[in-house]
Amino acid sequence: MLKVLESYEIGSAIIGNLKQSKTKCVLVSGYIKPWGHLKEALGSAIKRGVDTAIYVREPEEKDSQKLKEIGQELQELNVALFTVQNLHAKIYLFDDKKVMVGSMNLYDYSQANSIDFQIEVDDSETISAVNKFINENVIPKAKLINRKTSFVKKLAGTVANKVVTTVLNSVFSQPAYCIRCRKEIPDDINKPLCDNCYGSWAKFKNQEFKEKYCLGCGKEYKTTYAKPYCPSCYKEWNR
Ligand SMILES: [Zn+2]
Ligand SMILES: [Zn+2]
Repeated sequence: MLKVLESYEIGSAIIGNLKQSKTKCVLVSGYIKPWGHLKEALGSAIKRGVDTAIYVREPEEKDSQKLKEIGQELQELNVALFTVQNLHAKIYLFDDKKVMVGSMNLYDYSQANSIDFQIEVDDSETISAVNKFINENVIPKAKLINRKTSFVKKLAGTVANKVVTTVLNSVFSQPAYCIRCRKEIPDDINKPLCDNCYGSWAKFKNQEFKEKYCLGCGKEYKTTYAKPYCPSCYKEWNR
């Protein structure tokens, strides 16, 4: 089956496919500004246990705040939003059964005004080629926008599909630093010390004891076990 979708049909086809999906939705779009029905469909897919991930182009400095806000909105729906440098592809993949490829971004203005073209295909050869493209070119370069620890943990606890977990693993594997000796450790706000330093800290368990480094960036900063991040890392992690 090959369906040609015109501008006015694309948005609703995306929503329709999202609503029918059962296992996973991978949405690759240059730009994003989700409209109401899209957010609704994304939220309900997540509630049904569908692994849903959105990949968009890494924004220029001037647009990064806007994208963070969108990341925040999506986080409230438990949808993971990732950025990828120079991404310009528009691919919407549903359950490895259907794929839409074309020109439309997940952008409310385009949805309403642009002249776009998208084709929808369900043949397995195309779908495996698309998967290969995504696995090789998109996922390895993806960065999760909202890295708030509790959100990442919640995602990791809910998603089963490797599309999302692969990226989450890469988020987890980004280095952090022991706040006492600056040794590289996993980034976990609840474990800001390496095993060695934890051993000596545990003798007194003084949560306010002044340490030397920031857990997130490793820069010198008077952190504590209770507050292991420097102000800028804290802002990043706890928005
Ligand atoms: Zn240490
Ligand atoms: Zn820092």
